[in-house]
Amino acid sequence: MASMKWTRFFLPTTKESPADAVVASHRLMIRAGLIRQVVAGAYTYLPLGHRVLRKIEAIVREEMNAAGAIELNMPAMHPIDWWEQTGRVAAMGDVLLRLAGRGEDWRSRTVLGPTHEEVITEIARAYLNSYKQLPINLYQIQTKFRGEARPKSGVLRTREFLMKDAYSFHAAKEGPGGLDETYQRMYEAYCAIFSRCGLPYIAVEADSGPIGGDASHEFMVPTDAGEDFLAATDDGSYAANLERAEVAPIADRADGTNAPLREVHTPGLSTIEDVSKFLRCQPRQMIKTIIYEAEGAPLAALVRGDHEVNEAKLARAAKVKSVTQAGPELIRKTTGAEVGFAGPVGLAARVIVDQAVAVLHDGVTGANKTDYHLTGVNPGRDFPTTQSADIRIAVEGDLARNGRPLTFRKCIEVGHVFKLGTKYSVAMGATFLDENGKAQPLIMGCYGIGLNRIMAAAIEACHDENGIRWPMSIAPYQVVICALDMRVEEVTSLADSLHDQLQAAGIDTLLDDRDARPGFKFHDADLIGFPIRVTVGKRGLSEGVVEIQSRRTGELRKVAPDAVVRTVQTLVQAEMMPAQPVGIPTG
Ligand code: ATP
Ligand code: MG
Repeated sequence: MASMKWTRFFLPTTKESPADAVVASHRLMIRAGLIRQVVAGAYTYLPLGHRVLRKIEAIVREEMNAAGAIELNMPAMHPIDWWEQTGRVAAMGDVLLRLAGRGEDWRSRTVLGPTHEEVITEIARAYLNSYKQLPINLYQIQTKFRGEARPKSGVLRTREFLMKDAYSFHAAKEGPGGLDETYQRMYEAYCAIFSRCGLPYIAVEADSGPIGGDASHEFMVPTDAGEDFLAATDDGSYAANLERAEVAPIADRADGTNAPLREVHTPGLSTIEDVSKFLRCQPRQMIKTIIYEAEGAPLAALVRGDHEVNEAKLARAAKVKSVTQAGPELIRKTTGAEVGFAGPVGLAARVIVDQAVAVLHDGVTGANKTDYHLTGVNPGRDFPTTQSADIRIAVEGDLARNGRPLTFRKCIEVGHVFKLGTKYSVAMGATFLDENGKAQPLIMGCYGIGLNRIMAAAIEACHDENGIRWPMSIAPYQVVICALDMRVEEVTSLADSLHDQLQAAGIDTLLDDRDARPGFKFHDADLIGFPIRVTVGKRGLSEGVVEIQSRRTGELRKVAPDAVVRTVQTLVQAEMMPAQPVGIPTG
């Protein structure tokens, strides 16, 4: 077997970390010689980084195959026409990267795929014509391109990255062979993938647009380096991303006074802060009235002064596709007042009331008259609360729908499973003939995992002040042999032999054969984070021992040279994470 020696490998560790590297994974990946930036948002994976990525890829591929998905490969270049058919040229905006060409030449009609729904739906349209061919789940591991506005945090968010994306096709949503069944299998495959990669992950409910229900989950790794927030109960029975997190319904309007309605002069005071100061009331006593436009008509959303509207929840409650904040003109037309004085009393628009507003007593709100507010506003008495729902963004301490308080954590999204329904098949005319010979749109699911993000998230979750602590399953090498006295024949020949024996036992081993001081070698070994370090030195050999140290626990063992392979094998096996399938929580 070819021996892998440090001096013959390409492993440029460095002391420098770039000034813009704020998160640990970015800093450590550069210092450990795993990646090198080419331009903002695109990195070279140097040989060591490449090995990690290939190991993650192998785990992903194994679990996808085991779950019955079938691999194919689609190009990164797509015709823009297909993206126009699904309306996503507009929806994606600058995220969709287009080639620059003259006029209508082929370049101007070509995009670099940020995802592959259009390409796979065209394949389905061409080949999946009968219910007998369903269900089927096709996947690839392919480079994606996205014009991310601010690529940052190293490889956590880049403009070019590797994604495993799978797409399933079904004749029905429920029942054997239905979308729900494959969704469940993908959910479980994702749990197996992330646990095998050694990631501490949490599956959370994510916003799923109009389909609702359990139609989307994200897989999150809790870490401060993340840009997302998850909201979860302490017992883990409910977890959702912040946009999605539902707040428990409030049973009844509590008893309280019902003061008379009064108009007060609030000249030039149009913000919650100014008005609450001026009227000496708490923001939580105020009713914020935000005017939206939905399907061409004004729509007023009422939330407490200390709360924010959740537009996805609002759209769902109003049963519209989307809502957009109204401009000054529509606000003036709807309220008859300048911006900042809107209120629900006598408002000629559809009103959706957040459940926390519906139970208020003696609220304060705009009077629909410039420079005036109302006090003593009582929901039900002064404006209708017939359309009351959870339309606000959850805040920490809110009760989840199972009655337990929510706490928030920063996190990274590493994977996403989604019930698409018929959005793409309808847009692109991908139909199949059902048992009655009737043409129906294919029902679809899609499932994505970011491979580079797994790598960075693993580092965020597993590192210390000295460097990375790779999970055994995805470490670039499982073992480093530090040969301390390279000029002593007894040392080099034993180190060589241990390297060959470990390799032969199927354990990835790198031999640090550099003629350098022990401290220097140990420093690099800790920085790169090999899970096991085997140290062969003159002094140890004089006592007849070799040292074996675990990077994770720091535990040090001294064993005889002929016990090294056995001991290392046991350690490797103990640290390989088994796949742990987990069901979808229903809290
Ligand atoms: P984000 O919200 O972080 O931008 P997304 O929801 O747009 O991600 P998806 O379209 O769901 O991402 O893509 C599936 C997976 O691809 C994500 O779960 C993530 O792991 C990975 N991914 C997405 N965007 C990037 C990126 N810019 N760089 C690296 N990985 C990414
Ligand atoms: Mg996502």
